Amino acid sequence: MLNMAQGRPGTWLRHCIAGSEDLPNVISAREIVDAESRFTRFAPLLATLFAGEQGAGWDGLVRSPLISFPAENGALALVKADNDLAPTGSVKARGGMHELLWLVERTGLEQGLITPASDYRVLLGDDATTLFSRQRVVVASTGNLGFSIGRIARAFGMTAEIHMSREAKAWKKEQLLALGADVIVHDGDYSETVAAARAAARAAGSHFVDDERSRLLLAGYACAAAELRDQLMELGVAVGRERPILVYIPCGVGGAPGGITRGLKALFGAGAVCVFVEPVGSACVTAALAAGGTPSVYACGGDNVSIADGLAVPRASELVMAAVGNAIDAAVTVTDAEMIEWVGRVWDCAGIKLEPSAAAAFAAHGRLIEAAATLGRPLPVDAVPVFWCTGGARMPEKEFEELLSLGRGGSPAGNAVTRRLPSGKGNFADQFRPSSRGSS
Ligand SMILES: *Cc1c(COP(=O)(O)O)cnc(C)c1O
Repeated sequence: MLNMAQGRPGTWLRHCIAGSEDLPNVISAREIVDAESRFTRFAPLLATLFAGEQGAGWDGLVRSPLISFPAENGALALVKADNDLAPTGSVKARGGMHELLWLVERTGLEQGLITPASDYRVLLGDDATTLFSRQRVVVASTGNLGFSIGRIARAFGMTAEIHMSREAKAWKKEQLLALGADVIVHDGDYSETVAAARAAARAAGSHFVDDERSRLLLAGYACAAAELRDQLMELGVAVGRERPILVYIPCGVGGAPGGITRGLKALFGAGAVCVFVEPVGSACVTAALAAGGTPSVYACGGDNVSIADGLAVPRASELVMAAVGNAIDAAVTVTDAEMIEWVGRVWDCAGIKLEPSAAAAFAAHGRLIEAAATLGRPLPVDAVPVFWCTGGARMPEKEFEELLSLGRGGSPAGNAVTRRLPSGKGNFADQFRPSSRGSS
């Protein structure tokens, strides 16, 4: 039985990495295609709605750059920059926004405001706004899901009720209040907060975005796979079993990494090695993989305390485990110290601003390579790591500087912006020695 009590990081590896296990049809290919076409139908509307923040040049498509870090030894490492994903600055702009667009579209269709062939920008008109103003959306979140849901709901004039768990950061609460969302803070963990929000939504007849059970969220996240495939092709990176991508995705309930994995396995099969990354004390997917079912981390000795608020979740989503449990190749747990260290390294090397949850992706690479070699299942040397950077752009400068100074042993951070190096100057490949703080 898995024991998290010592707080030591570790690695769970599938017996046959990128094996041939078929993906169960829990989330169908049809649901993903529907999500992709929904994003396309809404693009002109989103470009109009967010022109102020994203600039008039934004095409309304929810896509993030794939950034390459060529290293001196010729190795390639890639960053999927959802930390700055338009329009809400985290991976939740994929899943969370997709569910809201689904709701807006269904309302518009039912009320006869649009047909699937319409210019959806009519949904920004007065008739639609009057209608949406009677709708209430409820969600539980440690911050980023709430912000994506709140931002989009409020933009259409809906009421947004965001239930937050105790690890929610003050600045995330403040940004939600500034949107005009109703914020309810619970003194419980994330699982308890989801349950409370679900009950509140049912009682009020509101639409509940269910982070543990929503198929629409997973389908939205899954759309990222085709985007990555196109970007890899543009970069001329041919992916296959001989040269897989090692995709490191930070994991809370498992929705974002699960949806992305669902999409990647369908497109790349054994060419995509999908690695979920969790804080040591909140390793709920690791626990589910190691022990079966969806045990609570508390039962495995975990305390669910982590600086990575987006990942501090005590129990994995059953839907995610059913949909992609068999397809997850590895799960790696990382410490707070490692995440903080990587926030600083990624900033120094590449000028990319990450929150600790997102930096977890980088902390996992050295450990996975080492564990795979130790267990006699080494990964191809030219496998391409892809670090899924899930959030960070919205972090206020002050919070970010405090994080950087934590990583430098608490010395005052000074002005972080002046230390920014041009992109690509750092040598990432040299940095992935497993931290001396951890062991596999
Ligand atoms: C939500 C989130 C995750 C993980 O997503 P889950 O669906 O909870 O697994 C990872 N990183 C960040 C920054 C997030 O906001």
